[in-house]
Amino acid sequence: MPRVLTRFIEEPQVFACANCKTHLSTEGNIESKDFTTQNGRGFLINKLINVTNGPSADRSLRTGMHVCQDVYCVTCDTNVGWKYIKAFNQTERYKVGNFVLDAVKVINYHWESVD
Ligand SMILES: [Zn+2]
Repeated sequence: MPRVLTRFIEEPQVFACANCKTHLSTEGNIESKDFTTQNGRGFLINKLINVTNGPSADRSLRTGMHVCQDVYCVTCDTNVGWKYIKAFNQTERYKVGNFVLDAVKVINYHWESVD
């Protein structure tokens, strides 16, 4: 196994893995907060770091057929969401290349100001 190098985001509002606190993205990368996952709320987000992708799979979602890859935290292997690889519906194409983060799998943490 290669050594896992996790990167650290130096921004005030960070999304991190709820299990191990590995940084995944920032508030500024969110495209939409109005997404639903099988676990509840989700975020459409245009950039995730410190994740690995699973194999592509066809998935029938509320908005039609998509090809998706599950994404996993590199540190603890928690499935934190998925990436849209292909959308068969023209109206859903904007999601391709973006990710959905499962809100219950992440924490949104705000830095405390340190004097
Ligand atoms: Zn993790």
